[in-house]
Amino acid sequence: MPEPILAEGAAPGDSVTQPPLPEAVDRILTGWGRTSPTAARVITPGEPADVVRSLWSHNGATRPGVIARGLGRSYGDAAQCAGGLVIETGRLDRIGAINDAGEVEVDAGVSLAALLRTSLPQGWFVPVTPGTRQVTIGGAIAADIHGKNHHQDGSFCAHVTSITLATPTGVLQVSQSVDPALFWATAGGMGLTGVILGATIRMRRVETAWMRVDTERHGELQGLMDALERVDATHRYSVAWLDCSARGRHLGRGILDAGDHARASELGASAARDPLAAPHDARFKVPVALPAPLVGGLSVAAFNRAWYAKSPSRPGRIRPLGGFFHPLDALGDWNRLFGPRGFVQYQYVVPSERRDVIVSTLELLQRAGAACSMAVLKRFGPGDPGPLSFPMAGWTLALDLPVGPPGLRRALRELDQLVLAAHGRVYLAKDSRLGPVAFAAMYPRLSEFETTLRRVDPEGLMQSDLSRRLRIGSLAR
Ligand SMILES: Cc1cc2nc3c(=O)[nH]c(=O)nc-3n(C[C@H](O)[C@H](O)[C@H](O)COP(=O)(O)OP(=O)(O)OC[C@H]3O[C@@H](n4cnc5c(N)ncnc54)[C@H](O)[C@@H]3O)c2cc1C
Repeated sequence: MPEPILAEGAAPGDSVTQPPLPEAVDRILTGWGRTSPTAARVITPGEPADVVRSLWSHNGATRPGVIARGLGRSYGDAAQCAGGLVIETGRLDRIGAINDAGEVEVDAGVSLAALLRTSLPQGWFVPVTPGTRQVTIGGAIAADIHGKNHHQDGSFCAHVTSITLATPTGVLQVSQSVDPALFWATAGGMGLTGVILGATIRMRRVETAWMRVDTERHGELQGLMDALERVDATHRYSVAWLDCSARGRHLGRGILDAGDHARASELGASAARDPLAAPHDARFKVPVALPAPLVGGLSVAAFNRAWYAKSPSRPGRIRPLGGFFHPLDALGDWNRLFGPRGFVQYQYVVPSERRDVIVSTLELLQRAGAACSMAVLKRFGPGDPGPLSFPMAGWTLALDLPVGPPGLRRALRELDQLVLAAHGRVYLAKDSRLGPVAFAAMYPRLSEFETTLRRVDPEGLMQSDLSRRLRIGSLAR
């Protein structure tokens, strides 16, 4: 990794003698759910120094707001800033050497896919991965993402040893021991503390790019939840997929996958020839946004039933890592299947003792006629110290819901109330519709977050469509 171009402690006045910045262009941006398009000036700097200069030379008085954007995999409006400046990080793509302890310095725009292409052949896996590897390091830190191993390993930022951050008032290097308040505000802070330029990540040693997976099919929800709790102690990774079309005594039936990294000695002859091969990028893409959704009520119910039927219980299967962690990455731009209105992902977490909220959710969505194309249930272990970090010990349910059914909006408002009453919260990286009152009640440490913001961004330069909708910011209160 080259030396940082702007050293720690650099401040806004330092930028005046530099060459011109790359040109910014006007673009319409959406999140992965494609629900709330807005227009902004977008700049894609090739160097960390240019990111810093873009931030510091931006005139917030004429064009309010600046926010960073990675690969746009957050579902809602977190990486958008209507009328403002969006700093895309895709060209910040340097990956340093991985040391013996598994630590690697990476630029913020490096995707987990790119990191894995470099690290897996050397026997290192990312410490936490979401359901897609098409996310950047900056996006992973800003959302403090979680994976199927949260019950054992916590979320992404627990494995970040330092972050280089460009704030409106200076470039800083922060860690869990150096300015921990700013480190943890950045972890899950949805880009509002500044633009992450790079970070040092602690990777996990693996012998192969394969997984050993125990699959269990459960015909009803309580048995499935019991099994998920049981595998907390026995498997590093676990996830359950629910058949949302099932009703009555089969409500919440589903498939549990519990996995661990396979050892080299467990591979068959063909896998053993190249045991650490990184997964391929998608070979097929949905070429254009479809004029009408391919994903709707009937197709969703049929798909759910077929998936359930084709997944019998099976212990110890050796599967490629890409299929276990990132099955949706096999088809590029699959979000276009939902047609012009797009889709909402609603993800929440509730404490372990509130299993009833999962039951009520499934019943509520069925009453509202919502077609749930995907429902994923996971367990979380204790959360980390980030005031806006999403995970906390309990159950997390993520639901993909095509926009369309007239009762959906109301059903989701009811869900907000159910989650709130259970002392749970909604995940900001997936959110596109929560209101400021419900948000503030779900994240009671908001004022602590805003105290840190006032220190690094006293004029409230950092803004996104999400922060405006939820009224988060140093000047918000
Ligand atoms: C199919 C799919 C599956 C997913 N599964 C999971 C999952 O299992 N677990 C999970 O936790 N999440 C999951 N996600 C959500 C995803 O991990 C997060 O939304 C992640 O933040 C996206 O990263 P990105 O690079 O695309 O960031 P973007 O979507 O571009 O931005 C997300 C947020 O990060 C901020 N940001 C981005 N780069 C920077 C930077 N350099 N500096 C400061 N802020 C920055 C943006 O301002 C924004 O607030 C999934 C998403 C998809 C599409």
